[in-house]
Amino acid sequence: MTDFDVLVIGSGPGGQKAAIAAAKLEKRVAVVERRNMIGGVCINTGTIPSKTLREAVLYLTGLNQREMYGQSYRVKDDVTVADLGIRTQHVIGREVDVIRSQLSRNHVAVLTGSARFVDPYTVDVIDEQGRDVKVSASKIIVATGTRPARPESVEFDEETIIDSDGILNLPTVPDSLVVVGAGVIGIEYASMFAALGTKVTVVERRERMLDFCDLEIVEALKYHLRDLAVTFRFGETVAAVEKRPRGAITLLESGKKIPAETVMYSAGRHGMTDELGLEAAGLAADDRGRISVDSFYRTAVPHIYAVGDVIGFPSLAATSMEQGRIAAHHACGEPLRGLSSQQPIGIYSIPEVSFIGQTEDELTRSHVPFEVGISRYRELARGQIIGDTYGMLKLLISPEDRSLLGVHVFGTGATELLHIGQAVMGCGGTVDYLVDAVFNYPTLAESYKVAALDAVNKLRRVAKFEL
Ligand SMILES: Cc1cc2nc3c(=O)[nH]c(=O)nc-3n(C[C@H](O)[C@H](O)[C@H](O)COP(=O)(O)OP(=O)(O)OC[C@H]3O[C@@H](n4cnc5c(N)ncnc54)[C@H](O)[C@@H]3O)c2cc1C
Repeated sequence: MTDFDVLVIGSGPGGQKAAIAAAKLEKRVAVVERRNMIGGVCINTGTIPSKTLREAVLYLTGLNQREMYGQSYRVKDDVTVADLGIRTQHVIGREVDVIRSQLSRNHVAVLTGSARFVDPYTVDVIDEQGRDVKVSASKIIVATGTRPARPESVEFDEETIIDSDGILNLPTVPDSLVVVGAGVIGIEYASMFAALGTKVTVVERRERMLDFCDLEIVEALKYHLRDLAVTFRFGETVAAVEKRPRGAITLLESGKKIPAETVMYSAGRHGMTDELGLEAAGLAADDRGRISVDSFYRTAVPHIYAVGDVIGFPSLAATSMEQGRIAAHHACGEPLRGLSSQQPIGIYSIPEVSFIGQTEDELTRSHVPFEVGISRYRELARGQIIGDTYGMLKLLISPEDRSLLGVHVFGTGATELLHIGQAVMGCGGTVDYLVDAVFNYPTLAESYKVAALDAVNKLRRVAKFEL
C-alpha cells in the first residue's frame, strides 16, 4: 500500500491540473511544492507577473489611447516600479489563493519542500530546514518546469545583469535596456519597457525573430517596436557583458558596444531536473534538463509521467495544463482523446500576436495551395472606436475544400479573438461558415467575416479566370 495513488511534483499549470484531475477521479493525491512557489513559475515569476505588468504598463502609459488623445497622453507621467508592482503583487496573491483553495477543496495534500527520488515509487520531500519525509505513490507525475538558462561566461549580479526572473525585482525603471535573445519572453519584455520609455536594444544571434510566426505579422510587430524606439541587432552575438558604475557595456562579436543601465538575458530555459535524483527512479534528462515522454506523457518508466515545460516544446502554460490533465487521466485509467492536434500560440508583445495552424511559409514549403483573406482593424467600426488602426486578421484558406489552414491575428485582443478561428477549425468548419455568420456590431470579431469575404472573393476571381 502506497501513501498516495498519485503524487505530483510541482504545482505549476501542469502539476495543478494533473492533481485536480486525479482528485476528481477520487484518487488520493498529493502535490510537492517549494515554499512560496504555489502556482509555479507561471504564477510567481512567469506568465502572470509578466501579463499583469503589461496591463499596468498599457494602462499607466495610456499608450493605446494616444491615437485618440494625442501622442503626449499619459495617465501618469513618471511610472515607477512601485506603480507596476502594486498590480502584480495583487494579482499573484489572488491567484495563489485561488489555487490553494482549489487544491484544498479537492482534498489534494500539499507537501512543502523539494522532492527527490529515492526509488521509482518513493520520493524524499526535504523542507528548507533540511527535515525530510519519505512518501510513496503508485503513479508519479513530474511537473517541475524550468529555470532561465544562464550562459557561464556572463556574471549575473541580480542588479545590472539579470535574467527574466530578475526583471521583476528591478529597483527602478531603467532608462536603457539591452535584451539578449529575441524569443517570446525577450520580445514581450522589450515591448513593455519600450512602452515605458526605456531605450531598448534587442540582440539576436539569428537573422529573424519569432520564426515560427507568420512573416508579415512579425514584420508589422518589428515596425511597431521600432516606432517605440527599439533597436534590433539581428545576426549579432554577444562577446561579453562588462559591468560598469553606470550600468553595463554589451560587447558584440562584430565590435559594437552597447551601453545600458540594465542587461536582461533571455536565452532559453533549462529543465528543473538537476536536484530530482532521476537516476534513482531509473530515468535521465537530456543536456537541457528535459525528460522524454510518449504521447500519453509516460516516461521510460511507465508509472512515472512528465508534463509541462520540463518536457520541452511548446513550453506554454496553456499546453502544460492540458498535458497534466491527460497524464492524470491516463495514469488513473480514464478513457481519453489525447492532445488536440492544433495548439494556439499567444505572444503578449505590444501589439499582441496570436495564431493557430500553419503559416504561409510552411504551406508554401509543403506545396499546399492556399488563398489569403485579410481584414484590417482600421476598416472596422470597433477598430476606429478603440483607436487601433494597425491590427489585422489573416485567414489562410484551402482552395480545395475551403477549410481554414491557419488563422493569424495582430493587434488588440489578438489572443482572445483567435479562439473563434480555433473553434471553426476544430469543428471542421469552412470559410463559408464565416461568410454566412452574423457577428455582433461593432466588434473586432467581425474581422472574421471581412477576412472570409476577402478570401472568397479572391477564390471567385481565380475561378472566373479559369473559365
Ligand atoms: C516571463 C514568462 C512569461 C510567460 N508567458 C506565458 C504566457 O503568456 N502564456 C503561456 O501560456 N505561457 C507563458 N509562459 C510559460 C509558462 O509560464 C510555462 O509554460 C508554465 O509555467 C509551465 O508550467 P509547468 O507546469 O511546467 O510548471 P512551472 O510553472 O514551471 O512550475 C514548476 C514548479 O515546480 C516546482 N519544482 C521544481 N522542482 C521541484 C522539486 N524538486 N520539488 C518540488 N517542486 C519542484 C517549482 O518550484 C515550480 O513551482 C511564460 C514564462 C515566462 C518565464
